[in-house]
Amino acid sequence: MTWGKRQLLLGDDSTLEGTIYLIHFDKSYSGRSHYLGWVETRYLARRLAKHLDGTGSEILASLKKAGIGWKVVQTWDNKTQIDERRMKACNNTKRICPICQQAEQRLSPAE
Ligand SMILES: [Zn+2]
Repeated sequence: MTWGKRQLLLGDDSTLEGTIYLIHFDKSYSGRSHYLGWVETRYLARRLAKHLDGTGSEILASLKKAGIGWKVVQTWDNKTQIDERRMKACNNTKRICPICQQAEQRLSPAE
């Protein structure tokens, strides 16, 4: 399993528990519509303030320049960076995003 290898590469911090947060973009940008991040829980507010400022991550800085809004739609506490990577690897942010879920429920499925 590649999972164990990845875990080793992450170093000691990977077992530290923190908060995973999911950001939903008002409009998709470069084919992306979500941002999933991890931060130590005590730094969450500070990290989000940085994102608002456009200094916390490249993609959110680009959104700011493009005038696209975003919001934090979900947070999960007591999560490690391993959990974050696992969630990213699943590539199912739409499924865990409450806004996208609601939108999907409103549009009746074609199948
Ligand atoms: Zn969404």
